Amino acid sequence: MTRTYDAIVAGAGLAGLSAARDLMTAGLDVVVLEARARAGGRVEQATTHDGRLVQLGGEVIGDFHTYYRELVAELGLTIGPSFPDLPGQSTWLMQDGRWLGEDMPWMSAHEHAVYERLDREFATLARTVDPEDPWSHPNALALDQMSFGEWLRREGASPQVIRALEVRSFALGDAAINRRSLLAELRQDSKAGGHGFYDYDVWENLKVLEGSATVALRMAEQLDYRIRYSTPIEEIAINAHVSSVRSVNGEVLLGRHVVCAIPAGPLRDIRISGVSKERLAALHRLQHSPTVKYVPVYPTSFWEENGQNGTGYFESTLLGGTWVQADGIFSALVPVDRLGAFQALPSHRRSEVFRAELVSAYGPEAGEPESEYIRNWAGGPWTQGYSQSWRPGELTSIGPLHGSHEPPFWIVGSDQWVSGYMEGAVCTGRQAAAAIVNY
Ligand SMILES: Cc1cc2nc3c(=O)[nH]c(=O)nc-3n(C[C@H](O)[C@H](O)[C@H](O)COP(=O)(O)OP(=O)(O)OC[C@H]3O[C@@H](n4cnc5c(N)ncnc54)[C@H](O)[C@@H]3O)c2cc1C
Repeated sequence: MTRTYDAIVAGAGLAGLSAARDLMTAGLDVVVLEARARAGGRVEQATTHDGRLVQLGGEVIGDFHTYYRELVAELGLTIGPSFPDLPGQSTWLMQDGRWLGEDMPWMSAHEHAVYERLDREFATLARTVDPEDPWSHPNALALDQMSFGEWLRREGASPQVIRALEVRSFALGDAAINRRSLLAELRQDSKAGGHGFYDYDVWENLKVLEGSATVALRMAEQLDYRIRYSTPIEEIAINAHVSSVRSVNGEVLLGRHVVCAIPAGPLRDIRISGVSKERLAALHRLQHSPTVKYVPVYPTSFWEENGQNGTGYFESTLLGGTWVQADGIFSALVPVDRLGAFQALPSHRRSEVFRAELVSAYGPEAGEPESEYIRNWAGGPWTQGYSQSWRPGELTSIGPLHGSHEPPFWIVGSDQWVSGYMEGAVCTGRQAAAAIVNY
């Protein structure tokens, strides 16, 4: 007789792994099907020749990322401070020059005052949005259809203030402020407590000292034979009693529950039946923002000798900016609006261009890394992006089905949370596992 699993988990990223681990611990018979030959999905690490770990995907977290922090503690790993506390000044590589200092040193006192007023207004507005149910806001539709950029201009942002917010977004790999929904921005800030514009101290001040991908690898070790690698799924058929999942090699597995932990992009390539057409439309509508991560590795953090803390904001280069991943190691992202220019570069010239950009910000030593990594998260069939991208109007178009389930079809992953992040993956994975155990 064909074996029927209690749960089939699709995808061994942080979401699938944390759901599967909790289901296993609760005594359920679970199997995880993973397309790649490794666990972790958008968290991935490499080791340099001198034994340093390098993060090629997700890396830092904030204090309020409680699901992730709890998981890290359970796995016996350690949370420590990340880059915002490092000594020195930030570097602003703008079209018209290079500045060192905090808080946009090229702006006038008046422009700073406008920036701070808008920051306060944004926080106040954010606190009116329920992050779990932004659709219930009385002005949800209008706030969603308006871009963050349009709101800033309406509230009196000068070109320099717009520039400041734009360059800060690019450092995160984000889309331009005119292509981002105001409601989605407010929802994200509301989830963090309504502090104001995106703040590294709130969202990125901590990291796992043993390497963030180690979180996924530890869970994969515990799940052991329950994970089947190199097994891409091509079809999911949901049925109230027993559902089936077919892999590309034609194998069909049966399960009482299906936990779908596959990102929005690859999910569109899977045939899914037995769920409502509204749900499929919502899942298929979700957009991703692609990015490329560049990680150069140096013998030491040489920039500290020049009074620089390694946090950089770059206005018109391919890289959006830098932050310090670990001693002597930078992380940098190519924002979505610059990816066309990146793709147009012959691949053998890409690292040369990145190094030249870092030399402009940090001096000649930046041009001579011991090793370097370029990880393109825009290409490849199994990720197709970085995190969700909420264009104006998309949050209300998708509506409250976002982040919800249709048992026995459970949809987890950071794409189903407020705004990506490893916290979103772990939180949705663990919450779904708890619901399945009590189902
Ligand atoms: C460059 C970069 C930097 C980031 N920085 C941060 C950060 O600093 N802090 C932070 O919190 N977050 C960060 N993130 C986001 C974070 O890494 C992700 O949100 C999170 O890891 C996603 O986990 P997930 O399990 O939802 O999805 P994924 O990790 O994408 O896992 C999905 C899994 O499904 C598999 N899969 C896909 N298709 C199929 C198929 N057909 N069949 C079977 N399996 C399939 C994939 O191979 C993958 O293993 C970053 C992401 C990137 C790419």
